[in-house]
Amino acid sequence: MEGLMKGKRGLVMGVANDHSIAWGIAKKAYEHGAEMAFTYQGEAFGRRVKPLAEQAGVKLVLPCDVEDEASVDGVFESLKSEWGSLDFIVHAIGFSDKSELKGLYADTTRANFVRTMVISCFSFTEIARRAAAMMEGAGSMLTLTYAGSTRVMPNYNVMGVAKAGLEASVRYLANDFGPRGIRVNALSAGPVRTLAGAGISDARHMFSFQQRNAPLRRTVNIDEIGGSALYMLSDLSSGVTGEVHYVDSGYHVVSMPTLDELKR
Ligand code: NAD
Repeated sequence: MEGLMKGKRGLVMGVANDHSIAWGIAKKAYEHGAEMAFTYQGEAFGRRVKPLAEQAGVKLVLPCDVEDEASVDGVFESLKSEWGSLDFIVHAIGFSDKSELKGLYADTTRANFVRTMVISCFSFTEIARRAAAMMEGAGSMLTLTYAGSTRVMPNYNVMGVAKAGLEASVRYLANDFGPRGIRVNALSAGPVRTLAGAGISDARHMFSFQQRNAPLRRTVNIDEIGGSALYMLSDLSSGVTGEVHYVDSGYHVVSMPTLDELKR
């Protein structure tokens, strides 16, 4: 099946390098005919993102730091003047100070709590509102979350709280925009080795634990997450909104480690 995204224009936020989940999604969308704009956070990322953008036929590569409202406005002003309308967005943005992605959640500081929430949770709502204003009759919005939103994962701490807020935002936004034909969903990815993933203390242990204990006995890669994103962004999922869809080798359904693990 080809061309699922033909004629669709979308904004992809969160490509940092070729390990990024957003890059796995962009590759699939490109293979299926999407026209995309990318954003990057600061010039250092820009230098890595521009060659990738070229590979995906992306001509619009815009700076955006979601902590700065004017920079978010700038992205949508450019999109309005270049394209006028929009069919989809991918929000693959998250950040928390890595000094708080270890130890006790209870020790989270006020400053990092607020910053984590603004970047990792509120930015989706802020972007969704602007994107919805450019969607005519239909649209698909997608964000990335992690199972640390509903269950305690070691060291995930304040990011888990932000992801819980993000997943609730998906449901509220789906209800706000549904009457206009705009769908809002999240993919809950299993652990992937990325820049953001590396910020979580002892991430490699969580990675190998999932490899041994997920039903598929492995972790997922960015191409598999891209495949699920393609479903969510395209008309294949036209009846789906407000959903948190797990792409985690089935890890979220198990309640205990395997017997092999218990006997290790
Ligand atoms: P990544 O480091 O490749 O991407 C994170 C992106 O967030 C980067 O492009 C970075 O520039 C951007 N970002 C951070 N702060 C920003 C800001 N202030 N303004 C604009 N952009 C900002 O890592 P990734 O793992 O691909 O992360 C993408 C999303 O997937 C995140 O929301 C992350 O929480 C989520 N996720 C990751 C995993 C994992 O194991 N890697 C699992 C589930 C969900």
